[in-house]
Amino acid sequence: MTDSPASVRPDRRAEIAAGLAHVRSRIADACQAAGRDRTGVTLIAVTKTYPAGDVVALADLGVTDVGENRDQEAAPKAAEVAAAGVEARWHFIGQLQRNKAKSVVRYADVVHSVDSVRLARALDAASASARDRPLDVLVQVSIDGDVARGGAVPDAADQDTGLAAVAERVAGADGLRLVGLMAVAPLGWEAERAFARLAEVAESFRAAHPHATALSAGMSGDLEIAIRYGATHVRVGSALLGMRPTLR
Ligand SMILES: *Cc1c(COP(=O)(O)O)cnc(C)c1O
Repeated sequence: MTDSPASVRPDRRAEIAAGLAHVRSRIADACQAAGRDRTGVTLIAVTKTYPAGDVVALADLGVTDVGENRDQEAAPKAAEVAAAGVEARWHFIGQLQRNKAKSVVRYADVVHSVDSVRLARALDAASASARDRPLDVLVQVSIDGDVARGGAVPDAADQDTGLAAVAERVAGADGLRLVGLMAVAPLGWEAERAFARLAEVAESFRAAHPHATALSAGMSGDLEIAIRYGATHVRVGSALLGMRPTLR
C-alpha cells in the first residue's frame, strides 16, 4: 500500500472485488434471461458516501463509470481521484440546483437528472463557458407524474417540466448532447410496473429523438427488472460497496 490519500486497505479492496463479482454475475444473468447482449448494459458504481479510495479500487477492478448525487461531495472526490492519476467517468445522478451547474460541468461527463428547461438552460450556459465538448445529458422522467420528487412529466404540456419541452431544449443546446432518459422507480410502486411504464415512455421518446438511446434505470434492488425492460445503464451502490451509513 502507498500513503496516497486515495488508496484503500487490502481488506476493503477484497470486499469491493467480491461485491463487484456478485453484481457482474447478476447483470450477466439478467441479460441472458432477457435475451440481451451483455455489452448493452453499463454498470455505474454509485460511490456517494464512500471515499475516493473506493473509486480508485473500482477503477483498478475495471469499473470507471461512477455516480454521485451531491455536488458538495462529488467535486472534491473527483479532484482527489484525478490527483491519484486515475481516470473515471463521473455521472451526476442526483437532484441538481441551477446554482451548482457551474461546478458540476467541470468534472461530470454525464448528468442523468435534468428535469426542467431552466436547469437545461443553466447547464448549457455553464458547459459552453467551461468545457471543450458538450455535456452528455439524460432527461430524468417522473414515472408517477409527481414533480416534487424530481423528473420531467411525460405527456404534459408544461413548458418547464414537460418531458417533450425539456428534451427539445437539451437537443437544441450547443453545450449539451441528449443521450437518453433516466428514472427511479417511485416509492410505493412495484419495480415491474414502474419500468414497464418507463419502457413505454422511452419508446415514444425515441420516435422523436432516435439517437438518444440510453436508458438509465435499476439500482441494487431492482436491476434485473430494469434490464428486462431495456435499461442500458444500471446505477448500483449498496450491492457493490455495502450499506450506506446514512440515508440521503
Ligand atoms: C443512491 C442512488 C442509487 C444507488 O442506490 P443503491 O440502492 O445503493 O444501489 C441509484 N440511483 C440514484 C439516483 C441514487 O441516488
